[in-house]
Amino acid sequence: MEDCIFCKIAAGEIPSKKIHEDERVLVFYDIDPQAPTHFLVIPKEHIKGAGEITPENSDIVAYIFEVIARIAKDFGLESFRVVTNYGVEAGQSVPHLHFHVLAGRELGWPPG
Ligand code: AMP
Repeated sequence: MEDCIFCKIAAGEIPSKKIHEDERVLVFYDIDPQAPTHFLVIPKEHIKGAGEITPENSDIVAYIFEVIARIAKDFGLESFRVVTNYGVEAGQSVPHLHFHVLAGRELGWPPG
């Protein structure tokens, strides 16, 4: 999608610190890490966010969680948090579905 920063990252038009890439997803480090380990998992397909998941596109969510589990094992993460923000009030700043994976420090609950 034009003017979507994550579509541009997925297309290689904007550089990122890649962890994993395949036909369906890209995994890269967050530019403003909130934990010692903080990476993002995005579908290459443009989906605005978690509120736009439908029976037609929901497969990608299961696949993303498979990828997260695989990378967490590769990284030796015994504990991690997966977060997706949808909408401005929830803190979504990039309107392209993405899952934050955070690890490496104690994470508070509930979120602020
Ligand atoms: P959210 O605020 O939940 O929409 O998450 C968007 C995340 O994208 C934030 O944590 C940003 O730090 C991160 N981000 C924005 N631009 C980039 C970029 N060019 N490369 C890596 N991460 C980015």
